[in-house]
Amino acid sequence: MRRPIIAANWKMHKTPAETLAFAKEFAELIRGAEGVDIVIAPPYPALSELGRALAGTGVMLAAQNVHPEPAGAFTGEVSIGMLADIGCQYVIVGHSERRGLFGETDEFITAKLRAVQDGGLRPILCVGESLGEREAGRTFEVIAAQLEGSLARSDTARAEELVIAYEPVWAIGTGKTATPELAQEVHAFIRGRLAERWGGAAVQIRIQYGGSVKPESAPALMAQTDIDGGLVGGASLDPASFCAIIRYEDRVEK
Ligand code: PEP
Repeated sequence: MRRPIIAANWKMHKTPAETLAFAKEFAELIRGAEGVDIVIAPPYPALSELGRALAGTGVMLAAQNVHPEPAGAFTGEVSIGMLADIGCQYVIVGHSERRGLFGETDEFITAKLRAVQDGGLRPILCVGESLGEREAGRTFEVIAAQLEGSLARSDTARAEELVIAYEPVWAIGTGKTATPELAQEVHAFIRGRLAERWGGAAVQIRIQYGGSVKPESAPALMAQTDIDGGLVGGASLDPASFCAIIRYEDRVEK
């Protein structure tokens, strides 16, 4: 049985003071929420603040990015050791905004992913097709290539700790959520590729859906066989709406 994992990706939103205000309200709202892993990825300057504010709640910290090298002349970058030191447990790698806006290649992404694993943290690997790719009937081909490239150097021994986020680029920040059936089709495809690579371990790997997830859409998405959680952008910025997504089970029978 896979434990659901719901993660917030705040992108470039919230100062440390705003983070503190969020944490105060959120800690009250999620009291008693069980059976689901909750992860929040704020901007770097708010990571420590958030960790302190949510200590004892079970909420885990994620970074939105990292550099694969342990230290050195990489102006503007942050290392895995630095993230581990402040209690980070997850790192998002290969987000479509990193791929698209910052030119990150699968080669760079797989180096990061392996470094995250070697550093004892857990990667959340994002994959997803653009609208043009979907309309051209290339979704599975694109996802397969991203998985192959981004997982090229991944550690087989830590395969079960991996989290994959399927995020169709056309659904991110657009208000267009994939239908549960469409998302399930891609999630099943992803699990099939993971099984080809790692056999039985694929059953343990959690696959999140991301792309305009809202409290209203979460229950039907989460009811799908191969959807094990969500990676949530916009709707995670508000404590009440993020909490409502986390508490999707109050509104659905799986
Ligand atoms: C994301 O950034 O990973 C994301 C899914 O954003 P949104 O929920 O706003 O579409």
